[in-house]
Formats: sequence, structure tokens, C-alpha cells
Amino acid sequence: NRKVVLRGYISRAPREDDMVLVDGGTVALRVPGGAPPAVLVRNLYLSCDPYMRGRMRDFQGSYVPPFKPGSVIEGFGVARVVDSTHPGFSAGDIVSGMTGWEEYTLIDKPERLSTIQQSDIPLSYHLGLLGMPGFTAYAGFYEICSPKKGEFVFVSAASGAVGQIVGQLAKLHGCYVVGSAGTNQKVELLKEKFGFDAAFNYKEEPDLTAALKRYFPEGIDIYFENVGGQMLDAVLLNMRVHGRIAVCGMVSQHGLTDPVGIHNLYCLVPKRIRMQGFLQSDYIHMFPKFLNDMGKHYRDGKIVYVEDMSIGLENAPAAFVGLFSGKNVGKQVVCVSQE
Ligand code: NDP
Repeated sequence: NRKVVLRGYISRAPREDDMVLVDGGTVALRVPGGAPPAVLVRNLYLSCDPYMRGRMRDFQGSYVPPFKPGSVIEGFGVARVVDSTHPGFSAGDIVSGMTGWEEYTLIDKPERLSTIQQSDIPLSYHLGLLGMPGFTAYAGFYEICSPKKGEFVFVSAASGAVGQIVGQLAKLHGCYVVGSAGTNQKVELLKEKFGFDAAFNYKEEPDLTAALKRYFPEGIDIYFENVGGQMLDAVLLNMRVHGRIAVCGMVSQHGLTDPVGIHNLYCLVPKRIRMQGFLQSDYIHMFPKFLNDMGKHYRDGKIVYVEDMSIGLENAPAAFVGLFSGKNVGKQVVCVSQE
């Protein structure tokens, strides 16, 4: 059972050699007898998500506990049940939920797994479009942004797992949508594939405030914040009165010992801006409706989806690290096995 383990805690941006592939020995393909109900799975697809970087720090005060050095990395995955002593699961079922970055995982809290009803939708999409990132976009846009038809929406990290869905939901809602991304290829994708009204490469803009003014001459009603730092400062100057900022994440600030200072927060007052952080997990009661809505949008051709698939467990560390320099084009997943 090959597995990817964390070498030790870090306090900087993650590097590939912070994780190591080890041979965990032969796996008995049965759930051990006499143990509480458990499920043994063969992992098929693993998700690389920015929040996992926070679990590599020696910090207990977060909403998820840190990984244990020397232990297998945990993350969302799609897997096939090999053996089960839990009445809710049988061999052959396809499930999604928390699993390990390894070939086989014994899951001792199977009640946290969901069974995937197989359909024409690729299984890996349950880690993005129909999984946690897609749900983050859905809950964040409808519950936090209070969108109205015709409003001006800006999305940062717009071609990523969450951003691409937010932009398309906003278009479906009748909004004017602009996205930013870190390469010209991603900018093309935003305009040509995801149907954003406009998009720009923030790395080629010497003055972000001026760039936003160009794309939003009348100002921004809704900012879906994924990156933080200088982008947030520039957005604050360009917000409209009664605008909303949904703070989903600040990927540019992860692990900085000296985070970028925000200078323009005073704009919240005269512009009466509502700025709200959120965690998708607080809205989990909406998940069944989300699955239904998003599955329908996808089948009706109203939402498209791009994922970046890395092949092989041994490539998982590089795929994960790439999130923090924008190597991923679309949702980053790793294929461990297809069967
Ligand atoms: P993405 O698929 O968007 O991948 C991360 C992207 O961030 C990269 O591709 C890169 O795109 C961009 N990026 C990386 N470093 C920087 C930087 N220094 N400055 C600007 N952009 C950068 O990831 P997700 O869609 O999974 O996550 C997007 C955000 O949503 C993250 O902040 C994440 O933490 C957050 N999140 C929050 C959740 C919640 O419940 N609140 C749940 C899930 C995600 P580019 O090439 O465009 O720079």
C-alpha cells in the first residue's frame, strides 16, 4: 500500500519534498474482524485543496486539526469499497468523503462517507463540480453574496475549482461577471469556455486599482474573494455602495509570516459594504439541493467544468504544491486508479 506522508510541520509555502511516498506494505483486503464497523476502500481520485496547507502547520486553533507528521495525508477522495462491515456499504459501492493519500484506506468512520449514484458524470467530478469546491461556490454565491440580476460581479482565482463555478452561477443569475487569473491561457478559458463577460491576467497589471476601474467603470456590487492581499485592497476602492464581499479564501496569504497589510478597509463605512467570511460546512444542509441543481445545470449544458488531472499517487505532492503557484488549470485532482 503506497502512501504519501507528511515529513514534518512547515511554516512556509509547501514544497514537494515536504511529503514523501512510502511503501506501507501489503494490505489484507478485508476489514479486520472484531473491530467496530469500518469500510476498506481502494482510492480512485484524490482532491488537492488549498485548505490542506493549513493542516501542515503545527497549529491547533483552526477549524480542522493539523496532520500528524509521519502519517498519511488526508483529503477528499472518490473510492471503491473493497470490503465493509458497516451495514450502509457493500463491496463495489463508489463513495466520496475523507480518505487518505494512499492506494487503500481503512475508514473507521464510514458514516461520513456518501455513496455516489453512478451516472454519465465522471466520478472525479464529485471532488469539484459536484463536491466541496462546487458546493462552496454555490453556498457562497447564493447565501453570502445576496445577488441580484444585473449586478456587477468580480471573482478572483476565477479559473480554479471554486471560481469557475461562481462565475458561471453569476452569469446564470443575470449578472455581469469579470474574473482574474494568473496566466493568459486561463484568461482565455474564462472568456471562451466559462462565458465570463471579461477577464484579465492580474500578473500583467501594474496597477490593480486602475485595472478594476477599467473593467468596472460603475463599480463592483459583489466581490467573491479567493486570494486576499493587494487584490482585496484594490477591490475595496472599486466597490459600490451597499456592495458585498464574500470572503471564501485568501490563497495569496497562506503561510506568509508577514501578510500583506490591507489599507482600504475604511471603504466599508462610507460605502456600507458587507464583508463576510464563510465556511461551506456551515451550509451543508443545502448539499442535496446543490447536487440536484448542479447536476441539472451540467446535464442541460448550462455549466461547464474544467479539471486538471495528475496521473499517479507519486505525483500528488507536485500537484498539491502547484496550487500555490497557479500551475493548475481548473480543479486539481489526482488519479490513483481507475478501477
Ligand atoms: P484553485 O483551484 O483556485 O487553485 C488555487 C489558485 O489560486 C491557483 O490556481 C492560482 O490561480 C491562485 N493563486 C495561488 N497563489 C496565488 C497568489 N499568491 N495570488 C493570487 N492567486 C493565487 O483553488 P480552489 O478553487 O480550491 O480554492 C479557491 C479559494 O477558495 C482558496 O482561497 C480556498 O482556500 C478557498 N476555499 C474556501 C472554502 C470555504 O469553505 N470558505 C472551501 C473551499 C475553498 P492563478 O493562476 O489565477 O493565480
